Amino acid sequence: MYKEKTSSQWKNLDASYHLHPFTDFQEYQSSKGRIIEKAEHIYIYDTDGKKYLDAMSGLWCCSLGYTQPAIGEAVANQFNQLPYYNNFFQCSNAPAAELAERLVKISPKQFTHVFFTNSGSEANDTNIRLIRRYWDLKKQPKKRYIIARSNAYHGSTIAAASLGGFKSVHDQFETLPYTSHIIEPNWFTEGENHSSKDFGIIAAQELEKRIDEIGEANIAAFIAEPIQGAGGVIVPPSSYWPEVQRILNERDILFVSDEVICGFGRTGSMFGCETYNTKPDLITFAKAVTNGFQPLGGVLVNDRISEVITKDGGEFGHGFTYSGHPIACAAALATLDILEKQNFVSRVANDIGPYLQSKWHELSDHEIVGHIRGAGMLGSIELVRDKITNERLEPDQKAGGICREFCIANNLVMRAVGDSMIISPPFVCSHEDIDLLIERARKSLDQTAAYYNV
Ligand code: PMP
Repeated sequence: MYKEKTSSQWKNLDASYHLHPFTDFQEYQSSKGRIIEKAEHIYIYDTDGKKYLDAMSGLWCCSLGYTQPAIGEAVANQFNQLPYYNNFFQCSNAPAAELAERLVKISPKQFTHVFFTNSGSEANDTNIRLIRRYWDLKKQPKKRYIIARSNAYHGSTIAAASLGGFKSVHDQFETLPYTSHIIEPNWFTEGENHSSKDFGIIAAQELEKRIDEIGEANIAAFIAEPIQGAGGVIVPPSSYWPEVQRILNERDILFVSDEVICGFGRTGSMFGCETYNTKPDLITFAKAVTNGFQPLGGVLVNDRISEVITKDGGEFGHGFTYSGHPIACAAALATLDILEKQNFVSRVANDIGPYLQSKWHELSDHEIVGHIRGAGMLGSIELVRDKITNERLEPDQKAGGICREFCIANNLVMRAVGDSMIISPPFVCSHEDIDLLIERARKSLDQTAAYYNV
């Protein structure tokens, strides 16, 4: 156990030794951030005694909030029974076997198998390995390219970050040479003078064009999130996914639905591909599968791929020490029990999701809100100075960070992606929790407007 310290001692200790993900290290030396010390329901508390409404479910993972003792009990029981064993060398463990079956049963009918990892990034690396193996075994070794989208987030390993579409990230390492990015279906930033519907078709047809440019014989797969999360909760126009699926139906390429954020009910269906009626060959999952309480990710594999890699593949040279970790799998089983028994997916579709969306969209009357997107338990707001021209509050999309600081001051965790303010609240929110979220968001928007003299 750690020794008790004062809040400033914790901050100094952390700033002295700890390098944080996606953080400006020098800035952190002076800002020293916040040390989160406890949580309950949808609220987190820092060591300064401040209580925040967490509208991000941690990092899109604690869909069931922070108070779920049954998951802790499952973890403790599994710890006492079998705290670790690996899944190499013809071995398995009960929670891994049961979870694999359970995930196949709750996924669309084409899915037959699961490969476990510890994270979404590793799951997307696994996808690349599975895809390559599949095409090699199908005697089409030229099929290598994976098409992804700008502003997509698929993780932080070299492979997953190459699939991702953040230029600032790509500038910091050598990306894999066989990835290619098309535009994201973000009508607000990319739609020019097109209607949302027309733009959805145009953005989808970028896929068709890119397939033809590179040559279908060289394309292995297309990877996409149903709703791009970390890119700014980009809810695509309704015309987008039907057109993408039409293109995929006509082409012999695999489709990966990265459901690390959209999986397990976030869009109002168990998986986002069901909300949008797409037919993936592989599904990436992580995060909410354990409510974020244990690290676990993986890939759902469809019949077409599992048949080929099983029948002809020999040994698959890939896997992790903690693939199918018994404690993580036990946490996932307990999470799915709660999700299913308490009907959270239907709560998102029919109650708390629509309530959030109606309240969130009321913010569109605010003077600095240029555009609002949302679906299920996801939402985003574009900050602007001028609602007609969509001129931003200041160049270089700095206003999001300013607004985020006001949110923090107002005891609300809302994330900024450039000038998009995004939320992904837990499904356990009451209507009153949502009202409080909106009240604090509106106050933060008012303060941001005042800061910019709007
Ligand atoms: N895919 C998506 C869509 C994600 O949002 C994330 C993480 N935010 C990842 C993959 C990577 O997951 P992890 O951080 O667990 O590696």
